[in-house]
Amino acid sequence: MSDEPGPSVALSEPQVAALLEKILNSMREYCGPAGLQLVVRAAEVALAAHRGQTRQSGEAYCIHPLEVARILSSYGLDPPTIAAAILHDTMEDTALTRQDVADKFGEEITRLVEGVTKLSKLGFRSLEEHQAENLRKMVLAMAKDIRVILIKLADRIHNMRTLGFLPTAKRRRIAKETMDIYAPLASRLGIDEFKCELEDLAFRYSHPDEYAEVERLVKHGEAERRKHLEECAAVIKARLVEMGVDADIHVRMKHLYSVWQKMQRNEIPFEEVYDLAGIRLVTKVQKDCYAALGVIHTLWRPVPGRLKDFIALPKPNMYQSIHTTVFALRGHPLEIQIRTSEMHRTAEIGVAAHWRYKEGGEVSSEDYEKKFAWLRQLLEWQREVEDPREFMEAMKLDLFGEEVYVFTPAGEVKALSRGATPVDFAYAVHTEIGNRCVGAKVNGKLVPLRTELRNGNIVEILTKPGAVPKHEWLKFVKSSRARNQIKLYLKQEAQRQAVVLGEILFRREMARLGQNAEAVTRDKNSTELLKQGGFSQWTQVFSALGVGKIEPEHVTRWLGWDDLVAPSGDGNAGNGASETPAREREETPRIEAQVRIHGALEPGLRFAKCCSPVPGDAIVGIITRGRGVSIHTANCPNAQDLDYDPDRRVEVEWDITQAETYAVKITVHGADRPGLFAETTAAISRLKINILTGKMEVIDGNKFMGYFVIEIPDADKLEEVISALEKVQGVTAVERAFSG
Ligand code: MN
Repeated sequence: MSDEPGPSVALSEPQVAALLEKILNSMREYCGPAGLQLVVRAAEVALAAHRGQTRQSGEAYCIHPLEVARILSSYGLDPPTIAAAILHDTMEDTALTRQDVADKFGEEITRLVEGVTKLSKLGFRSLEEHQAENLRKMVLAMAKDIRVILIKLADRIHNMRTLGFLPTAKRRRIAKETMDIYAPLASRLGIDEFKCELEDLAFRYSHPDEYAEVERLVKHGEAERRKHLEECAAVIKARLVEMGVDADIHVRMKHLYSVWQKMQRNEIPFEEVYDLAGIRLVTKVQKDCYAALGVIHTLWRPVPGRLKDFIALPKPNMYQSIHTTVFALRGHPLEIQIRTSEMHRTAEIGVAAHWRYKEGGEVSSEDYEKKFAWLRQLLEWQREVEDPREFMEAMKLDLFGEEVYVFTPAGEVKALSRGATPVDFAYAVHTEIGNRCVGAKVNGKLVPLRTELRNGNIVEILTKPGAVPKHEWLKFVKSSRARNQIKLYLKQEAQRQAVVLGEILFRREMARLGQNAEAVTRDKNSTELLKQGGFSQWTQVFSALGVGKIEPEHVTRWLGWDDLVAPSGDGNAGNGASETPAREREETPRIEAQVRIHGALEPGLRFAKCCSPVPGDAIVGIITRGRGVSIHTANCPNAQDLDYDPDRRVEVEWDITQAETYAVKITVHGADRPGLFAETTAAISRLKINILTGKMEVIDGNKFMGYFVIEIPDADKLEEVISALEKVQGVTAVERAFSG
């Protein structure tokens, strides 16, 4: 630790000693010496670590973590949570490292401190209204252990209590963040006391004038209101005793923010807020809740539509209570809540009740089971749960949702489905960003597009003009938005591609017949004739030609030029070019290629399985019936077989802008010897080439035949692979494989 002079705070310092004593006193009610010792040890370490640091208020820094711990100890939380609260700012703000904390206090406490530190690093600078819910969920999802949230909420409460020491602008920002993120979180976790205090403090600093006004109004009639309530309470008490119903009666005051909220929401003046205060009945057993309700409804007339039974139907945050409003003494509406003491505790401290510590020591798996019993009991009406871990998962899903929250470089939050990738993110930002996406950075580092995003990632999408969505993205995108947009693009692209191909076929046919294609398509009469085929526009005809739905001969027939054609049999029959007699090849003019191959899986195009072309190969497109165009290597025997029918041939060329890999088959021949297969495999792997399939066969007892399917980016790399394999001892030949 530093030797710098500064407030030298010791456990014996009166303010610190008093605070620690309060914490220990609360804890004595529910835990033994081991827990107390742990907390004292944490206080010693935190004091030493924060030595010399002061807060804005001028007081020693360590007062803050101790105050946070004190809030949590008043809720009866387990010693690890209290210890972690005392240490919560050490990893971030002092010389203490994660390792130091782990060495001194073990993994559980370290993970809690680390969780709080991580949350503290989140800056919610650009807090748009619509983002608040996402941010809340992200905080929940990042916390993993709900105790981290409890510490964070207590931290926020103490920071809000001391907010007055900060400059005005900072006060407002923190107050808004509290209102948007932390108060709703407390509410969702059912910790009503946290929620009310956070709301009132945030209200005070974000709307100081309104706060002062509401405070004045409430104070003004308070004495009178209290007197009225006590009269009502006395009437209720007498009737309950008479009917033999056992219940305690409390008067409760609405907190200032909820009064103001009600005035705003209902656009009413203060005088019309009738539930500024209410009465709460707390019973020992559940049946008395309903008995008490009966008593009250016979005493005073209920306001219609105001009865709510959250006992039969608990709120998602476990809240249970019966609410009713009645016209009480002098006809004043009076809100009454009825619940058991158990339900009351849950309502006050919500999820925190779950980690209330009972004497009995360390958390074993049975304790873990027991800890969840409380929550389980409340959820039993929902489902049966066998495994507590499974239950935890289920609860996480309920609380956290199935989403992951990431930032744009500008700090905006996007909620995506769990498992989402940069491509999903790109489409969530904008369709055009998705369509033009060529790469992504996560937290500043380039990552593959299929990378699974995690909570809190900052994602940047790299785009390129003219880039297009890839078919293979469909294999990993998670969001329906990305999926639909990619499919839409591919479909449109396939249609466009089909029209281009169809027009090529049409022009060839016209050229063969000695007709001017342009003139034919402009001619109204010929357009009219297309109706025979059920078409009204030439683009429809081209599209049908392009996908092989119709043949050029059909168009010729509709135009009435059958007689210009050499007999060609039935255009509908047959499924291969081999059945179509050869045409006069010399008369077929060459038409320039218009089809460019951008990637491995282009709509309307497919790579022939027989030769598996890769970029750099000389290629040729062959129009197949009904299946678009298949791309073969120029030397593929199957392509050469079809080549006699030049009408089916399309010029194609590579237009590769992005690294992709292509599956290629190769065969390796040689004299068999032990280890040969392993060596050929190693030779391929050394070039960082992925092997999809590797097989070997021994022929005639001594001849080796290896068969590989490898993933390569282009023809050059394939050459490298082949020459590397040829150098393996015993290999006599390596071939690119063609199969039928
Ligand atoms: Mn703090």
